[in-house]
Amino acid sequence: MADGSWDVIVVGAGNAAGCAALAARESGASVVMLECAPEDEAGGNTRFTAGAMRVVYNGVEDIMKLVELSNQEIADTDFGTYTEDQFFDDMFRITQYRTDPDMVEILVKRSLPTLVWMREKGIRFVPIYGRQAFKIDGKFKFWGGLTVETNGGGPGLYEALQQITRREGIETLFETRALDLICDGAEVRGVKVKQGGRIREFAAKAVVLACGGFQANPEWRTRYLGPGWDLAKVRGTRFNTGDGIRMATDIGAATHGNWSGGHAVGWDRNAPEFGDLAVGDQFQKHSYPFFIMVNATGRRFVDEGADFRNYTYAKYGRVILEQPAQFAWQVLDAKVAHMKRDEYSIRQVTKVTANTIEELAGMLEGVDRQAFLKEIAAYNAAVRQDIPYNPNVKDGRCTEGLPVNKSNWAQTIDTPPFEGYQVTCGLTFTFGGIRINTDGQVVDKDFHPIPGLYAAGECVGGLFYFNYPGGSGLTTGSVFGKLAGASAGKTVGA
Ligand SMILES: Cc1cc2nc3c(=O)[nH]c(=O)nc-3n(C[C@H](O)[C@H](O)[C@H](O)COP(=O)(O)OP(=O)(O)OC[C@H]3O[C@@H](n4cnc5c(N)ncnc54)[C@H](O)[C@@H]3O)c2cc1C
Repeated sequence: MADGSWDVIVVGAGNAAGCAALAARESGASVVMLECAPEDEAGGNTRFTAGAMRVVYNGVEDIMKLVELSNQEIADTDFGTYTEDQFFDDMFRITQYRTDPDMVEILVKRSLPTLVWMREKGIRFVPIYGRQAFKIDGKFKFWGGLTVETNGGGPGLYEALQQITRREGIETLFETRALDLICDGAEVRGVKVKQGGRIREFAAKAVVLACGGFQANPEWRTRYLGPGWDLAKVRGTRFNTGDGIRMATDIGAATHGNWSGGHAVGWDRNAPEFGDLAVGDQFQKHSYPFFIMVNATGRRFVDEGADFRNYTYAKYGRVILEQPAQFAWQVLDAKVAHMKRDEYSIRQVTKVTANTIEELAGMLEGVDRQAFLKEIAAYNAAVRQDIPYNPNVKDGRCTEGLPVNKSNWAQTIDTPPFEGYQVTCGLTFTFGGIRINTDGQVVDKDFHPIPGLYAAGECVGGLFYFNYPGGSGLTTGSVFGKLAGASAGKTVGA
């Protein structure tokens, strides 16, 4: 006899889970969400985000399907476009043409309709003026294909999903850890959980796994991402330890995607082992395209200005992890100090300032002082000062003749005060996961759907390889969460 029974059990309570639960409920199914975290830590990585979501739009009219804009905002803003073609191009280019074509088609084509659906459910979106637009000649211009975020960021999105699911009669059972799928050999019939120290069995006609990647599991990180990844910091929740992936593969699910890859960024060197909800994403240091980065040898090691931040930040964490002692210093001078994003001003920051570059060199902990001074001199001499600087476009203002050149936004470092920010690798989520079909059903090793089993979000592999275009994680969770929930609801709903 089961300890509880629903039509659909959703494992997790982040964005993918919330969207799956709401979509399943639309078919009349009874739905519950299982969340292993206590209520004050619940909501997974979703709650740590800024809420930025990558979505297709063909002009301001599409933005207005998501966002309320005043006449003044419309007059003062060039939203540009982010067409299906642009999103496809970004996904193929960024993943070096590895992304699963069926999955990417779903992601791109359903991005706008899914966000419109979320808005109809009660999720509020706003334009990302602060981080994704620069004001030029009195007009804001958006760049990088990332234009809207959820109101209140990740915490706002999580809170709204909780309110809406509650309103729809969907309960979240906190401190309820899914341990195993109940499977009769052919069909999934429920979930075995640990709740209040007791093992219980919950019955369901369908289960949707939306319980994250394996980034918070140092043993799996080392096993799959490789040696050294045990030393990375985790940017978000401590609860995404690969449980959903393990539960599915235990009953024969196929795996998919870039198991040795993950989304990893430059993250404060002294940040805690896991994310801190009070700080959110602010340990990141994302203004590096306008600065330089040096490692312990005092040398630059990466093209900081290879592309807009949105297209490089998710792969540079790995590059930083590969440096001696897994750290780097971001270095800047007064000319670009205004380019620092808000996260540079938090209290918990590893920062030094100095009035001369020689003084700064002595303050960069762990760095070869003389080599650093030589590096700055060589860098300054290599900047093409004849090319105008423009942060809104890839300006081509580069360095020439260095072992590692900077392709855009190169500026000499010569105007006091000088600043340094120390970063290490912060892992956001892992790319490998279980395999689903175009209905969001988990498939077995013969690629046949496993009856009663669906999945969405970080625990699914196949979309991201090597890198990731900023703002795609939440959109992926929403699009595939809605898909999986709708499929699960359709098969079992009243
Ligand atoms: C600091 C930071 C900033 C980010 N910023 C952005 C951004 O601005 N835009 C963007 O698109 N993406 C961003 N991301 C990525 C984004 O957070 C994820 O891609 C997305 O939230 C994943 O959603 P999800 O629902 O799949 O997983 P999650 O939101 O992580 O939800 C997984 C849930 O499963 C639960 N769980 C795990 N195991 C079990 C178990 N055994 N039983 C029960 N429950 C379990 C967890 O507690 C959690 O509630 C950011 C991530 C971080 C860490």
